[in-house]
Amino acid sequence: MARVFIGIGSNVGDRAANIAAALGRVGELPRTRVLKISSLIETEPVGQTNQGKFLNGAAELDTGLDPADLLCELQQIEDKLGRVRTEHWGPRTIDLDVLLYDDRVIDTPELKVPHPLMEGREFVLMPLAEIAPDVVHPTTGKTAAGLLDALRS
Ligand code: AMP
Repeated sequence: MARVFIGIGSNVGDRAANIAAALGRVGELPRTRVLKISSLIETEPVGQTNQGKFLNGAAELDTGLDPADLLCELQQIEDKLGRVRTEHWGPRTIDLDVLLYDDRVIDTPELKVPHPLMEGREFVLMPLAEIAPDVVHPTTGKTAAGLLDALRS
């Protein structure tokens, strides 16, 4: 089983309900359990700023799915919950990102882990550091709490 952290965001409709629905579905994936869920924080949109604010959070999973299968399942959940994949960084019902997958470093066209933008994004690091302050980011060697401190200083 792998210890995985995912990032979750929504900025359309009932954002908290979208996130709860997505996490419910994640917990129903084969050989997968949701172990911890962070608090949700409200954040300003990145990129296109003329859209609604996001709610963001993170969750810790235990899964027997390999990284590619997990990504595929998460994308199906995004699609089922109504995300329209038209605009890059545009409004989205639900966005699910693989942040960390054990201490694996993956660099394929479809999947990059650790998530390449996580180190620079407070809205990813805050929820992650809340549920797993000591988890180590495998390419920098820093903990989630350390990355958050570094970003804020
Ligand atoms: P986005 O629109 O930001 O959700 O990006 C989705 C795209 O990012 C998909 O085509 C994925 O294949 C790709 N991707 C690369 N690395 C990751 C990751 N760690 N988690 C989720 N999607 C990823």
